Amino acid sequence: MMILFQNVDERKLEEIAKKFAKILFDGSIVLLKGDLGSGKTTFVRYLVEYLGGNGRKVTSPTFTIVNEYQSNFEIHHIDLFRLNEIEVEELPIEDYLDADGICLIEWPEKLGDHVPENYFKIEFEFVDESHRNLKISSSGSVYDQAFLRGDLSVKK
Ligand code: ATP
Ligand code: MG
Repeated sequence: MMILFQNVDERKLEEIAKKFAKILFDGSIVLLKGDLGSGKTTFVRYLVEYLGGNGRKVTSPTFTIVNEYQSNFEIHHIDLFRLNEIEVEELPIEDYLDADGICLIEWPEKLGDHVPENYFKIEFEFVDESHRNLKISSSGSVYDQAFLRGDLSVKK
């Protein structure tokens, strides 16, 4: 499954996060891909809000590597940007991927051999200062089905 959103401003981003929150299930993994400043952490802030948590508690885990938030699900928010391959190996990355709740990973390119088989992926592309293109996709039948059950593609 795959869907594209073009020229997304922050208001639209919030709307997408709201719908995306509804398709997540216990144990979901979400890979967040895109250049520096493309909107990954901003999306997480809205997502946490719509998962019943406090979006204001969301900060960039660039230095902390892993942030945890409470919501309807326990959320692990991971940013691998600063890490090299060896440092990623030193993390209990498989534990985070297997954990209950929701696992959100910025810079999943750094996962190397730890890329899971099944996941949602959101790719962010810079258009201009206030707009981004988003590509949301799923991998694996459980994720595909959750995607299909949701209303991400429905225009309101
Ligand atoms: P990094 O790789 O450094 O962690 P990031 O992808 O997490 O970067 P953010 O920290 O979310 O990026 O920063 C995106 C910035 O762009 C924020 O300041 C946000 O307010 C701004 N922005 C403006 N328009 C948009 C938009 N349409 N979607 C997302 N962010 C936007
Ligand atoms: Mg970020």
